[in-house]
Amino acid sequence: MTTEAVLGGHTLTLHRFPLDQKNRSLQAWDSADEYLIEHIQNEHANAKHVLVLNDGFGALSCALHALDTQNSLKVTSFNDSYVSQQACLYNLEENELESRQTELLDSLSDLPSDVDLIVIKIPKNAGFLQYQLSLLSQFENDVPVIAAGKAKEIHTSTLKSFSHFIAEPSTSLAVKKSRLIFSQTKPKKQTCKFPVSWPLEKTEFTILNHANVFSRDSLDIGARFFSNYLPQGKKPLRVIDLGCGNGVIGLQTLAKMPNAKVTFVDESAMAVASAKANIENNLPERVQDCEFVQDDCLTGFSPNSADLVLCNPPFHQAQAITDHIAWQMFVQAKQTLRSGGELRIIGNRHLDYQEKLLRLFGNCKVIGNNKKFTVLSTTKRG
Ligand code: SAM
Repeated sequence: MTTEAVLGGHTLTLHRFPLDQKNRSLQAWDSADEYLIEHIQNEHANAKHVLVLNDGFGALSCALHALDTQNSLKVTSFNDSYVSQQACLYNLEENELESRQTELLDSLSDLPSDVDLIVIKIPKNAGFLQYQLSLLSQFENDVPVIAAGKAKEIHTSTLKSFSHFIAEPSTSLAVKKSRLIFSQTKPKKQTCKFPVSWPLEKTEFTILNHANVFSRDSLDIGARFFSNYLPQGKKPLRVIDLGCGNGVIGLQTLAKMPNAKVTFVDESAMAVASAKANIENNLPERVQDCEFVQDDCLTGFSPNSADLVLCNPPFHQAQAITDHIAWQMFVQAKQTLRSGGELRIIGNRHLDYQEKLLRLFGNCKVIGNNKKFTVLSTTKRG
């Protein structure tokens, strides 16, 4: 994997997370980061406090500090992703920039208002961008906003979101297939539709979803199929809902298992907050049986600490299609399960998770099947 980046004339070493990713063609920055940093260097070199939204692996935070020869810049990095924040800390250290003023905020925090420049890496999820722009529309003062992304991902609707929430935008020419959007905050006080809620079919539950949650507008079809194959009974199992999203899997498990304890884990701050709200609102008497953890898969979980891991794994990391997160989830589930414990997953049939589980656990049973999905169960032996 290429790790040597040149941003604003500075050479930086930038690693993508997780570090042991197999796909060597993926890197930790892109041409939109390069374009953005070059523009800031030319037009906003005097900024003292920059707010960065959605910095993938810390490339922007590192480059902004590298440009600041006075060592007086503060960077506030606002991110929904735990993995992105860990990568940012790692890359700051890797480039000896860890002592610079960097504040990491999660995506449900209040934004600092004393900033003099705001930069946005356009997220894949348009609703999440709208949520972030609605936060910017609460600013009382006019602060320049520069957004960057792949030209093909900047649509008329993207620009409309800017004009709806903040000032009418203009755009740059495309360079290396990336484009910049120029706007500024305006005290418009626009609200957005998030969080959204909907009734969970065949139950009395209502599911709340923050803006950046997977399948936030309706039940995921994989999760719907998986719901038919959840455990039930009175055993006091220690269950993990791994990659919990809005928590629909763990919530239904709690309802079917009166004595179970469930740990909800996701790397998205908005997912963990949604899952927590969904237990508090739907099964308040079970909150005491739950934990809500923002983590990179099961990193740091104690070995032998779970009886059952339930998982509907992701096959994307931001824009990249990849199975490395699913694999990491399976490996860490095996480490976390007690001997005799079970990992139960759902996957698209074409992803062939069965082969992966057989390789890792030495056994794998198909417990449910339709044209699109397979539900698999594997047991930790020995
Ligand atoms: N369980 C929910 C459902 O069935 O609707 C969501 C499943 S969605 C396919 C996969 C989830 O994995 C997403 O919520 C995503 O944020 C989460 N995820 C992605 N990478 C992760 C990581 N490294 N660690 C923990 N969770 C991750």
